[in-house]
Amino acid sequence: MAATSKRLEGKVALITGAASGIGECSAKLFAKHGAKIVIADIQDQLGKAVCEAIGFSNSIYVHCDVANEEDVKNTVDIAVATFGKLDIMFNNAGIVDSYKARIIDNEKTDFERVLSVNVTGVFLGMKHAARVMVPARAGSIISTASNASNIGGVATHAYTCAKHAVTGLTKNLAVELGQFGIRVNCLSPYAVATPIATNFLEMDSEAVENKANLLANLKGVTLKADDIAKAALFLVSDEAKYISGQNLFIDGGFGIVNPSFS
Ligand code: NAD
Repeated sequence: MAATSKRLEGKVALITGAASGIGECSAKLFAKHGAKIVIADIQDQLGKAVCEAIGFSNSIYVHCDVANEEDVKNTVDIAVATFGKLDIMFNNAGIVDSYKARIIDNEKTDFERVLSVNVTGVFLGMKHAARVMVPARAGSIISTASNASNIGGVATHAYTCAKHAVTGLTKNLAVELGQFGIRVNCLSPYAVATPIATNFLEMDSEAVENKANLLANLKGVTLKADDIAKAALFLVSDEAKYISGQNLFIDGGFGIVNPSFS
């Protein structure tokens, strides 16, 4: 297959958290490869701007809080009503703990807030994607975990816990849905200078990239959101047709040699 050929021609993809960062890059890349895109997010203005960039005939924006089951159900239904089906579900929306704290200073409300988006949000995306993919006997579900899905950090207890949970959900669903020809995988990026990282670390993009490069295992390469989108494209495309239940690390080997980024 030529590198320039369209790898998602005729597919319909729903991407949560697609108003910014990794989701935005994935929406644009998937569209470039021929997919119709449903952009689901809570940042309406940014989400509509992504839609505008892709083109309104190939994409729609839906306000969707992934922690709210009605919103997720509605968004999946809109995808099917607008584009006729759902081939790809990308559970990408995520947040991080609102402050760095030792566990004794962590508030239960903050812990639960992160789990509600990063775990319940993924569960709901999987559930409602399965609702339409199982009868179709086809589909690919991916979710964004993190290098924190495999290692411990400091002061991001909810985030680490949530990203470990995403891998568990991924494995469970891969087992349950394999019989219907549906593949389920997740992605684990190393640090990328998107708002989730710049806000949490209270640094600008350049400073985040400098810190990431300093701590990286793989030297001389800066990881960008677009690199994660390319890995996502591979996982949802037919090139990965026998890959299921996996956690694809895009971390330059960080997770196998380093205990923590924080
Ligand atoms: P980002 O901040 O650019 O994007 C996150 C998006 O999720 C935003 O558009 C935001 O509005 C949306 N979102 C947040 N809460 C939501 C909700 N309740 N419902 C719907 N949308 C919601 O950050 P990003 O780096 O693109 O993050 C995407 C995913 O990548 C997240 O799951 C994050 O945990 C994961 N991740 C990021 C990094 C990194 O360093 N940037 C590393 C590993 C994993």
